[in-house]
Amino acid sequence: MNSIQDIWEEILRSLSSRLTPTAINTWFADSVPVSLEDYRLVIRTPSEFKKKIISDRFSASIKAVLSDLFSCDFELLILVGDEEYEPDEKDDPDDFPEMAGYTFDNFIVGNSNKFAHAAAIAVAENPGKNYNPLFIYGNSGLGKTHLLWAIGHSIREHFPEKKISYIKGDDFTNELIKAIKEGKTEDFRNKHRHADLLLFDDIQFIAGKQSTQEEFFHTFNYIYEAGHQIVITSDRPPMEMSLLDDRLRTRFEGGLMADIAPPDLETRMAIARNKAARLGLLLPDSVIEYIATAVKSNVRQLEGVIKRLTAYQDILNDTITKEAVDRAIVDITVINDIPTPELIIRETANYYNLSPEDLKGVSRSREKTLGRQIAMYLMRQLTNLSLNDIGKELGRNHTTALSSIRRIEELMASDQAITIVIRDITSNITSSTG
Ligand code: ADP
Ligand code: MG
Repeated sequence: MNSIQDIWEEILRSLSSRLTPTAINTWFADSVPVSLEDYRLVIRTPSEFKKKIISDRFSASIKAVLSDLFSCDFELLILVGDEEYEPDEKDDPDDFPEMAGYTFDNFIVGNSNKFAHAAAIAVAENPGKNYNPLFIYGNSGLGKTHLLWAIGHSIREHFPEKKISYIKGDDFTNELIKAIKEGKTEDFRNKHRHADLLLFDDIQFIAGKQSTQEEFFHTFNYIYEAGHQIVITSDRPPMEMSLLDDRLRTRFEGGLMADIAPPDLETRMAIARNKAARLGLLLPDSVIEYIATAVKSNVRQLEGVIKRLTAYQDILNDTITKEAVDRAIVDITVINDIPTPELIIRETANYYNLSPEDLKGVSRSREKTLGRQIAMYLMRQLTNLSLNDIGKELGRNHTTALSSIRRIEELMASDQAITIVIRDITSNITSSTG
């Protein structure tokens, strides 16, 4: 049972346990389902009168059936005659299109994230008061950005006068570089300093970048001293950010730290069910459990699998079989997880404030050589490329690739710092693939 027609029939079947066949026939025989998505069922009836009866007498029961089927609340919209259905623009305000859908309502709370969730709610209710900054950290794909935006949503709703500023770690760096080039640093500063709420996503990207950290330090102080709220996310806690400026580390640790861990099976099942409901896809519990058992460490992938299944169903008109689920899981978790050589080279170069061309070029300066060797080592670790191909990506041959990889392995055995660098770069690569 998957299509909207099936779900509608299931609803009528359920209602028929409470209503006589005549009642069902009278009120529903000429009603048809129109759309089921974003937690909303839309149906069409021929007359205003029927709409009123259905809405007054049956909408609660219909919603109850939907809630049984999907484990979440639905809205019922009834159209009359040939009235057009226009899905809402939803709440994605023009200035923050990324924000759509990331609300507290859509966030499933479990043991792994309940502290971060409670902290985010506290901040949204009392911005700038108790927990400043709020620092949310955890691996990629576990809901950090979701909570960040949920705070944004809530503040926009309850404190519409407050000015919200959102920035991602790598954009902050790039915008700053651009502003310096164009002589517009003053504009850049004003853009963020006057925020009542600063949402800073993926701060790990500024670690090690001296001028960016310096600039952020001043932005931070400016906002903080004005009593305004700052929320930061990162893929690791401040004390594990080896290249973070100590002044920033102290500031961050002066606020509230909240970590998010991978969700347990029960939470993963609830999330899978919720994401499916949002797409109007009803999956049997056995399928939900199967998916949630297979995809453990990353909610983004869990969601990816559900989206794939919806696509298979829409495009191929497939019913959801175990094979379809397996295929979706392979598509999402295996293929999407392998970073491209370009990404590895870019993130390695970024880490040392170099450009990809620096790594591909001939210079043998210490830093460029090390960066080049690390990029080759990471390609060996994270992709299936042959030594030959790895060498080619950096304009080298396979002998050089092999000796570079060995060199890094030796360094890692003797030098703890290199191990941390490798972990940091790997983490930047995986948070970019999401
Ligand atoms: P991160 O910023 O930690 O990498 P995101 O916030 O982008 O992760 O989350 C990845 C995806 O998983 C998003 O689509 C988000 O809505 C979803 N997600 C993560 N955690 C939850 C949760 N607890 N409930 C519902 N959706 C979640
Ligand atoms: Mg994120």
